[in-house]
Amino acid sequence: MEQQNTKPITNDQSRNQALFERAKKLIPGGVNSPVRAFKAVGGTPRFVQRAKGAYFWDADGQRYIDYIGSWGPMILGHGHPAVLESVQQAMQEGFSFGAPTEREVELAEEIVRLVPSIEMVRLVSSGTEAAMSALRLARGATGRSKIIKFEGCYHGHADALLVKAGSGLATFGNPTSAGVPPEVVQHTLVIEYNNLLQLEEAFSLHGSSTACLMMEPICGNMNFVRASVPFMKRCRELCTQYGVLLIFDEVMTGFRVALGGAQSVYAKSIPGFKPDMTVLGKVIGGGMPLAAFGGTREVMEQLAPMGPVYQAGTLSGNPVATACGLATLREVQKPGFYEALGERTRSLVSGLTAAATQAGVPFCGDSEGGMFGFFLMPELPQNYAKVMTTDSPAFNRFFHAMLDQGIYYAPALYEAGFVSAAHSAADIEATVAAASRFFAQR
Ligand SMILES: *Cc1c(COP(=O)(O)O)cnc(C)c1O
Repeated sequence: MEQQNTKPITNDQSRNQALFERAKKLIPGGVNSPVRAFKAVGGTPRFVQRAKGAYFWDADGQRYIDYIGSWGPMILGHGHPAVLESVQQAMQEGFSFGAPTEREVELAEEIVRLVPSIEMVRLVSSGTEAAMSALRLARGATGRSKIIKFEGCYHGHADALLVKAGSGLATFGNPTSAGVPPEVVQHTLVIEYNNLLQLEEAFSLHGSSTACLMMEPICGNMNFVRASVPFMKRCRELCTQYGVLLIFDEVMTGFRVALGGAQSVYAKSIPGFKPDMTVLGKVIGGGMPLAAFGGTREVMEQLAPMGPVYQAGTLSGNPVATACGLATLREVQKPGFYEALGERTRSLVSGLTAAATQAGVPFCGDSEGGMFGFFLMPELPQNYAKVMTTDSPAFNRFFHAMLDQGIYYAPALYEAGFVSAAHSAADIEATVAAASRFFAQR
């Protein structure tokens, strides 16, 4: 381990605070993505100066054990030597050409080899762009307009996907953001995650006019909620029956929960299981702006320039980003990588659970590969409404107590956490010890 934290610095003398004040004058909320602002938990966001392995250091020189990892991409930890080397070499060769490169072919080959449901793939620059494009392609390929999504699943911020549940199943959703006209979401049906009854009803009412069912198979945007195996099985059956494309949004889970993504986890319980399309991001870029969507050849061939569905990008398949992604994917394929990562992540969740139980604090958690979630409640929730019953003031106290001890969890209770291959057993022990101190004092 590198240097430990020095004495905590109070907010009024902090460089973080000064930077936040400067930022707020020019950048809405002081941040370029809302959850970074600490609005849910209160306090001053940490401005990151540098990062290495499992740690980052803020503008005041404080060190944190990082359980966000850029919200998922940094599965190897920060500044992995092999990734740095690949990126540095790619940079020398040029930043962007607007013409095809060999590395794009290599990355496509890797993705298609590792995710059996993907026969063809297109590279883009963000998860939002990938999900938005997959949706357009699903509509173009099926000639249908309606889409079904689940409450609590996040698929980026494309207009048609920023929807909350309507008042009933015959009615469609309402925009969750200002600036999204109701007409844009009138084809988006939102139902409850893990609710078989609603799923059946949605398909019997709208199945034959629905283009796709888009879902996070293990939902990391409501902390950590798995689709149950029977629910997933039924999603697959109904999609097949009605000719609806099952789209797995694996932007978070892809190469994070297992080498073959969440779909490989479900395929263990449901023989032959495959989604029709998959959306990838985060880990495949290793921290660079890179994402992808792919699926069967038949569907992907509908995309321009082969087919009628338009999609394009100036920086798509960027040569530096693809170098970073390829180097990352090479590392995660080393034997035993996910076994070790999964084991370390489980040791964190079981350590936190034991610490809370000992102090009589209601607590539960779950993990898959290098992704985890925990809740200050006795039982794992199955849907968004249940997640939102978490005692949020208690979560905020926990968050700040951990932050003060140099441990950085996601600053919102509905976000998943991430462990990297750089997190050591000592990092996990230090984290559990810090949590124990907090639980004991309550
Ligand atoms: C992060 C995320 C997105 C959006 O990706 P961006 O790169 O932030 O646009 C989409 N879907 C899921 C499941 C995500 O976790």
